[in-house]
Amino acid sequence: MSIVVRGVSKVYGSQKALDNVSFEVKTGEIVAFLGPNGAGKSTMMKIITGFIPATSGTVLVNGTDVSSGGREIRKITGYLPENNPLYPEMYVREYLSFVASMYGSRRKQGSAVNDIIGLTGLAPEANKKIGALSKGYRQRVGLAQALIHDPDVLILDEATTGLDPNQIIEIRNLIREAGKEKTVMLSTHIMQEAEAICGRIIIIDRGVIVADEEKDKIHQKIKSPKQLIRAGFDRETSDSELLGIPGIKSAVLTRQGEWLLEAESGEDIRPAIFAFAVRNNLTVLSLQKEESNLEEIFRQLTGR
Ligand code: ADP
Ligand code: MG
Repeated sequence: MSIVVRGVSKVYGSQKALDNVSFEVKTGEIVAFLGPNGAGKSTMMKIITGFIPATSGTVLVNGTDVSSGGREIRKITGYLPENNPLYPEMYVREYLSFVASMYGSRRKQGSAVNDIIGLTGLAPEANKKIGALSKGYRQRVGLAQALIHDPDVLILDEATTGLDPNQIIEIRNLIREAGKEKTVMLSTHIMQEAEAICGRIIIIDRGVIVADEEKDKIHQKIKSPKQLIRAGFDRETSDSELLGIPGIKSAVLTRQGEWLLEAESGEDIRPAIFAFAVRNNLTVLSLQKEESNLEEIFRQLTGR
């Protein structure tokens, strides 16, 4: 249940999408493949699943070379492609039976379809056309087709992109559940997504791996140099007053009643903002810490 990527490059025409990429994913790991759009995530995943060949380098899944082991690779790998291409005219159960028929025996197929419909919470929608489902349910169908043959390795390309917050939580739970007994690699361009599900984070930028760390370590590595807080008050205040809060370095009014406050990194500045509000008879309407975003992390990791 492992993925070994050694020196993989991929060139499309004149463009290098992957440049000498190497990493390993071990049995039972849930690893995030994190990077901005165009970084090469989908390309890497298509190579791992054997959908496209690498220009150079090797990929082994459970020890089998993906460039020669097509059938074997498909048996041990589940893949949810980006944008989850499905047949809108097919019914959910019909589609999953169709996918199941590409693996294993007929008798096994029937129970596999029922099992996966139960596991992914599709029962209430199983007799509907895929095209009639909400995006959240379509994504469950995508996960179901990836899981139906109980693969050891699961490759999920942007599994929660475009879903609403409730759907995101549901799909994350499904991935966590499936990940308990599988090796999982999921791509995302959202830091929080990587943090929410994965134990390890591999960051890719312009086809090059720029970080590969356990989640906790990556946090130490990319300590945000500043702390940004959005604070909304019920009444007017001024930047000079706000700058009186210990630790605040700048205060910018972003819209009526809302300030973007920059503090030195380190201690959480929010209690001090509350204390300031109380002293000045202001009511705090909102107080939000801006998470260090991916762009900031890239700037730190790549020095650009
Ligand atoms: P990501 O999934 O991280 O957004 P992709 O792997 O889709 O990145 O793309 C990596 C780079 O390769 C991008 O610059 C993209 O434009 C290019 N690319 C991807 N697929 C093709 C293709 N089939 N033909 C030409 N260029 C491609
Ligand atoms: Mg992609």
